[in-house]
Formats: sequence, structure tokens, C-alpha cells
Amino acid sequence: MSRNFSYRIIINRQSPTVIVKEKCQYIRRRVNRIKNHSTIYDYPSCAVGCRRIKSNELFIETSRAHTDYSRTPALKTALENLGIIGTVSYGNRIGWCAEPNAARSVIISFSCGLNQLCFTETIRPRTLEKIAYCKNCKNVFKL
Ligand SMILES: [Zn+2]
Repeated sequence: MSRNFSYRIIINRQSPTVIVKEKCQYIRRRVNRIKNHSTIYDYPSCAVGCRRIKSNELFIETSRAHTDYSRTPALKTALENLGIIGTVSYGNRIGWCAEPNAARSVIISFSCGLNQLCFTETIRPRTLEKIAYCKNCKNVFKL
């Protein structure tokens, strides 16, 4: 089990991916502290930043289960084109990735389209390594 980590940050001089890596280090420290008290608690598998093109506001989200996409109908439809949300497609559960989670926050804040989103690299908080976008995310966001 992992909880959701969610951040909204104004980008100054740092690259957006560097900001995500710093947040991943913070997530790692927080999870490590909690893990001392609970064996069921785990790191979120991925974190990513998303923003609207030309905006300096970065939304960082982690992968998680049971996301509600009812407030972002275009994103919901794009996800449902892959299959039922929550079921496995190409090895990942549809809609549970960090990318659609972060996209959802940006779309709700700016009422923007799927084609106006840009993403940072996806980072694994446990190891801080870069993770390739999955096939589902590549398909939905044309990455
Ligand atoms: Zn994905």
C-alpha cells in the first residue's frame, strides 16, 4: 500500500525534472520514516510532473489506485479507449499511472486539452531512476 503524494510548485530556475527528483527524495524520506512503524506501507512506484505548455506551474503526482476521472471527460475517454479503467493493459493498470494523475490535476486547474500538456521524466522514488513512459501513457498523451 502507498499513499498519494501531490505537489503544486512554481518553476524558477531549476529544470522541472530536477524538481521531481528532489520531491522523490523527500517522498523517500517520508516513506522510510513511516515504514519504521508499518510493514504494509510502501513507496509509490512512480512520480511525474505535468504542466500546461508555457505555464510555470508544475503539478507532481505519484502513481496510485482508484483515481476518479469524472471531472476530466476527455482524459477519461482517452483512458477508456485502452480498456476499462483499473484493469491491466500492457502490464499496467489503466489510469493508475502517475502521468494521468498529474494530467488530471493540470486539466482541472486550467481547463486545457490533452494536447496542451507537457511532462517531466518519470522517476521511481525508491531508486531515483528514470522510468520509461508505459505503452498506455504513450498512447493517451502521444509521448
Ligand atoms: Zn503509464
